Amino acid sequence: MKITHVTLAMVTALLASGCGQKETAKGGNSAAAPTQTEANAAATATSTPAEKTAARVIEITANDQMKFSVTRIEAKAGEEIKVVLRNVGQLPKEAMGHNWVLLKPGSDVNAFSTTAMSARDKDYIPDSLKNQIIAHTALLGPRQSDEVTFVVPAAGEYPFLCSFPAHAMAGMKGVLVAK
Ligand code: ZN
Repeated sequence: MKITHVTLAMVTALLASGCGQKETAKGGNSAAAPTQTEANAAATATSTPAEKTAARVIEITANDQMKFSVTRIEAKAGEEIKVVLRNVGQLPKEAMGHNWVLLKPGSDVNAFSTTAMSARDKDYIPDSLKNQIIAHTALLGPRQSDEVTFVVPAAGEYPFLCSFPAHAMAGMKGVLVAK
């Protein structure tokens, strides 16, 4: 799911840049100045809505002290959000890996964390609880980052956590509040 979003974003970006270069090249070679102006105006007009609908970026860091830099996110129902998680720690992934997992309202963070402990081969994303997950990043080692884009489904309080063993209990959790 995450990969699909990233791939689509990349394709969109490539298409956008490709179109832009084409327009510029055509305008540069053409002797007709008005045509170039029109092309530029059209490009500006089409790019503006795309910027307005771009996902809002929330940057979160995770560290060796088992802390997220953000523990509360306020959002609107239907809003598209891109969470960029960066592990700024030094310890190896096996000892201090971090992810960011957003759960449906009413999910039990501690219960999720406990079940996740036995899902080491799945990067602590247990198959049996996937129906509780709205979105999640990859499990990150030191100096790694990952992002996930999602639409906030409805108003409510969505708990999030790092599902690496014992991290949620140590405080690596928070809430996304949607209105
Ligand atoms: Zn963690």
